[in-house]
Amino acid sequence: MTLRLTPFLWCGLSLMALLTNPIPSHGEDSADLILRHGVFYPVQPPGRVEGSLAVREGRIVYLGTEAGADALRGAQTRVIDLAGRAVTPGLIDAHSHLLGLGQSLTQVDLVGTKTFEEVVRRVREAAAKMPAGTWVNGRGWDQNDWPEKGFPTHQALSAAVPDHPVWLERVDGHAALVNARAMAILGIDDAIKDPAGGRFLRGADGRPTGVLVDNAMGVVAGRLPAPSVEERQRALRLAAAHCLERGLTTVTDMGVGDLDYQAYTALRRAGELPLRAALFLGDDEALLAHWFRRGPEIDPKARLQVRGVKLYIDGALGSRGAALVEPYSDDPGNIGLLVSTGDHLAEVSRQAGRTGFQVAVHAIGDRGGVVALDAMERGLGGPAPQARFRLEHAQVLRLADVERLARLGIIASMQPTHATSDMPWAGDRLGERRLAGAYAWRKVLAAGGRLALGSDFPVESADPRLGLYAAVSRQDLAGNPAGGWLPGERLTREEALRGFTLDAAWSLFLEGEVGSLEVGKRADLVVWGRDPMSVPEIEIPAAEIDLTLVDGQVAHERGKGR
Ligand SMILES: [Zn+2]
Repeated sequence: MTLRLTPFLWCGLSLMALLTNPIPSHGEDSADLILRHGVFYPVQPPGRVEGSLAVREGRIVYLGTEAGADALRGAQTRVIDLAGRAVTPGLIDAHSHLLGLGQSLTQVDLVGTKTFEEVVRRVREAAAKMPAGTWVNGRGWDQNDWPEKGFPTHQALSAAVPDHPVWLERVDGHAALVNARAMAILGIDDAIKDPAGGRFLRGADGRPTGVLVDNAMGVVAGRLPAPSVEERQRALRLAAAHCLERGLTTVTDMGVGDLDYQAYTALRRAGELPLRAALFLGDDEALLAHWFRRGPEIDPKARLQVRGVKLYIDGALGSRGAALVEPYSDDPGNIGLLVSTGDHLAEVSRQAGRTGFQVAVHAIGDRGGVVALDAMERGLGGPAPQARFRLEHAQVLRLADVERLARLGIIASMQPTHATSDMPWAGDRLGERRLAGAYAWRKVLAAGGRLALGSDFPVESADPRLGLYAAVSRQDLAGNPAGGWLPGERLTREEALRGFTLDAAWSLFLEGEVGSLEVGKRADLVVWGRDPMSVPEIEIPAAEIDLTLVDGQVAHERGKGR
């Protein structure tokens, strides 16, 4: 759905332009922005174009020769000389968690602290920038790095930060230090009892020291307050800037609730959402009932949309929670677990399909894939590419299900960096034979399927350059293993770029607006310091993002602080 101006409005605008523009004629035809002397990778059509690109009113109006663009140059046109630099469409992360990224960015980073005093100082500095009463979260301390190897106690922290509750997780996530304010809120007092599998550490006086070990964290975690809408907005601002610096112009938030939606909407209304966000609702009965009655939210400016539902069928491979058809190769008797039922998935799929929502099902193991595809097929009643249903992660598939995915028109939403993160141990879990369907990007394409790429940030880095690199190399950042892991599944750079642009846009119903450098599309694009399509593979992660444009406006410029 696009916003169309009425003829009356067009006349009004043209008249205004004539009255205020010093150029008497063709003022309304001139471009607002011309990028000249560039190497453009439009994605659609495939290939490269040396020349210029022109933008008017936030949309691409020309891509071609310098002379052709010069004809659109007016007195008000801003011209950027690219001096041969590369330009791609703005990158799209088809599966990410923007709010989660923001929350991880608001955490105080305590990795590498050399003393407990340094921990206290970093937390005090962070707290000083936050309203009193706001929770300060941190992560990464390790007392083994300090001169005193014993666990810290809360007193110095409580004295330095009296007005904010503080929660600081140890580097391994198995212990936390809280301050006095937090202990009061969480009900940690002299009388508190240790739970099974956990401890509240105590001093010689028998009083809690503020250190919570294992299940003691879980016992009180339920009493931690949910972040407010304002805190969520703050996290989203940080995350959006982080993404724009890395060339992302459209992101997703897989599994949002009502407060998340409120935070997004408040930013959108205030004009403070600097990139596009596509939200997928979490699997909550009341939330889904509300939205299925209301219908999808589609933004004429394509900044914020709610038209997806995120469901889960299984767990993750690393913890052996992904559901497999046959037992784990390194854990005979364990086939992983289903966290939902096919009937539930099918029922939500049916309702979503009827009300204009797309369904995205997290399925990591091959049994998860079978159940998810069965359910989506039942819900859709047969092949339905226009419904844009998606299988998320699809890390292990039976080869027959690769074919079925393509036949049903279900999008494979996959994350290249998951493959390179998991490659050291995935073979142990799956065994040789099942690896044929593991992270099988090329098989999906060969079967005629569509590949929408992403990162699952903050689980992995949000940086799409790492995803592009992993997609084409199947190697770690040092270039190992030589030739790449299961190298038959490597993508070409053109395929990887398409997965992070046009096909990711397709997976969000946004292919008419963004995802390629075609005339008429919104001018979301990235100007690269080095050409990611021609530098040696190993240099792709370091190729500079010089400029990120959204709707033809510079949203990030390298070297310019915020
Ligand atoms: Zn995810």
